[in-house]
Amino acid sequence: MQATGGCQCGQVRYVLAGESLMIYACHCHDCQRRTGSAFSEGMLIAAEQLALEGELTSWQRIADSGVEKTRHSCASCGNIMYGTAANMPGLMLLQAGTLDDTRAVQPDVHIWLQSAQQWVAVQPGVPGWQTQPDDMADMLRAAQAYRQSLA
Ligand SMILES: [Zn+2]
Ligand SMILES: [Zn+2]
Repeated sequence: MQATGGCQCGQVRYVLAGESLMIYACHCHDCQRRTGSAFSEGMLIAAEQLALEGELTSWQRIADSGVEKTRHSCASCGNIMYGTAANMPGLMLLQAGTLDDTRAVQPDVHIWLQSAQQWVAVQPGVPGWQTQPDDMADMLRAAQAYRQSLA
């Protein structure tokens, strides 16, 4: 499987090879602020799956968990492309909405449902947490079990 994507101005383009490890929707207030929307949709991928061209800028912050997180955006239009975290070497959180075709994007898990907007309806059977699991491996296992249940 190969998918393409890019930023709004077209300066950044990428090819994503293979399946993501997990797609999650995060309803935390940080993600609501960052996206200016109701939630963020991230795809956990291995860094080597992404072949990206174009100039990026990066911005670092220390999350509530104490982990340093970096956001990578188009240097021209500012479109957020992906995030990395100091405790996840070799992995990236690609912004799912930057894909050229977003129709196949469907969350495998939902996190931070305690701050979800009132109108958000989670599809029955999709694993969810009021906050987020301490160990991302738990999220990954639940996501993969959910995917298998659909197959
Ligand atoms: Zn751009
Ligand atoms: Zn979030």
